[in-house]
Amino acid sequence: MSAEDLNIDPHIDRAAEVLARGGLVAFATETVYGLGADATNAIAVARIFEVKGRPRFDPLIVHAGSAEQAARCAATWPDAAAQLASRFWPGPLTLVLPRRPGVIPDIVTAGLRTVAIRVPDHPLATALLKRARVPVAAPSANRFGAVSPTTAEHVRESLGSEVDLVLDGGPCRCGVESTIVSLAGENPTLLRPGALALEEIEAVIGPVALPPVGSASAPLAPGMLARHYATHTPIVFADAVRSGLNTARCGRLAFTGADDEKTYGAVELLSPRGDLREAAAGLFAAMRRLDARSLDAIIADRFPNVGLGRAINDRLARASVR
Ligand code: AMP
Ligand code: MG
Repeated sequence: MSAEDLNIDPHIDRAAEVLARGGLVAFATETVYGLGADATNAIAVARIFEVKGRPRFDPLIVHAGSAEQAARCAATWPDAAAQLASRFWPGPLTLVLPRRPGVIPDIVTAGLRTVAIRVPDHPLATALLKRARVPVAAPSANRFGAVSPTTAEHVRESLGSEVDLVLDGGPCRCGVESTIVSLAGENPTLLRPGALALEEIEAVIGPVALPPVGSASAPLAPGMLARHYATHTPIVFADAVRSGLNTARCGRLAFTGADDEKTYGAVELLSPRGDLREAAAGLFAAMRRLDARSLDAIIADRFPNVGLGRAINDRLARASVR
């Protein structure tokens, strides 16, 4: 959809005004809905943390309308950043770089010397960022730890009147958060698998280091907590289920299908044709639908650990931690 198709101009004007006076705008991106504030306004950003119930040690991603604006937040712009930005921005890739002093306040980066930046690829987000003329700090528009929103309806369910304005751009195309790569250390490192496949990134800059698996008490990247994206209903991987399960009281979250799917109380097939992109796009909405059924457990497939399967497994693994 182009900006013209959405007839978004009046909404964008209002949204930019809300940001300019320090308010919060939830907006569609290609990954998930973001809860945005002017990233240069520390008081406005503080409200994001309050509304989400997000701990202050968890830094936010700064969204820019262009690679040039993004680069102005960083102290350095290594070749790898230039290559990745020209190949994948706008798009679902977040780069962590040394932070330029005096541009983005401490509250956004949780006091770190680095900053996480990306240029989103959605006509609404692009129009908003261009009109606002400031970088916008935006985590997912949901309460901390819960399943991320992929429709405007999810945002309203989760945050309701605490958001000043919601820019409805329809269901998110990717459906999982951006891939985060740090270029601030010696070697490029994957901090979070996401909507851009690692394979695509490595095709441009060569090998990307995978960090060691973190733990709840010592997350490997700030904010990468073991438990996250969680449903109220416990999620269990199918390969970890013990026998004797009353499947009628359980939901089944499967990739293409499951042999015993007819015995379950509810079934969500993420992509009968076996497309990991399609599966990622529908993941969070399917988790929410199963969660709403008040079942005893959600039994989930483990996905192939390639392409977008990495992000899906990561989200399911975090959701399954009790
Ligand atoms: P989100 O939850 O999608 O808003 O993404 C925010 C996540 O990005 C945080 O939880 C961190 O894991 C990561 N992040 C943000 N800023 C930084 C940073 N400066 N260094 C490392 N990771 C960061
Ligand atoms: Mg989030």
